Amino acid sequence: MGGYGSGRPAYKSQGTVEQFTRLHIRDLGKLPTGAWAVESGGQKVGLAWLTGTKGGAYPLLVCPRCEQNRRALYRVGGWWQCRVCGRLAYAIQHESDTDQGFRRAWKARNRLTDKGGLGDWIWPWHKPKGMHRTTFDRLLEKANSTNAALWAGLAGKVGL
Ligand SMILES: [Zn+2]
Repeated sequence: MGGYGSGRPAYKSQGTVEQFTRLHIRDLGKLPTGAWAVESGGQKVGLAWLTGTKGGAYPLLVCPRCEQNRRALYRVGGWWQCRVCGRLAYAIQHESDTDQGFRRAWKARNRLTDKGGLGDWIWPWHKPKGMHRTTFDRLLEKANSTNAALWAGLAGKVGL
């Protein structure tokens, strides 16, 4: 079984969008048409006016870093920037249940052993030095039951 996590993308996220203050174009309310910038948190953010499909202009925020038009910017490192510039990932609720399950199982597994991959059973002799037996038993149970549920779910999906 190849380890989940061994093939993680090189792209490293700093966090998820939910962890940062968001400035959404909707939160700004009605802006005077043609306004060129808004100020928030001591920083000016440019506005771009686009023409909607039914006519009429609607504003978008201009990311100060990449100058792309965005609906939302995030406060990363003390500056407003878009999700791409801030290297933010979408949060867990945007993942599928399977992805979520994998992430949890992988996390639980990593607390116990760095050997093998997700889906490999964890055995009592994997107990890390210094970890309390009761803690280990609890995590072991969690990791293994998550494992079982995951693979059962996966098996169902692929029709095995
Ligand atoms: Zn940007």
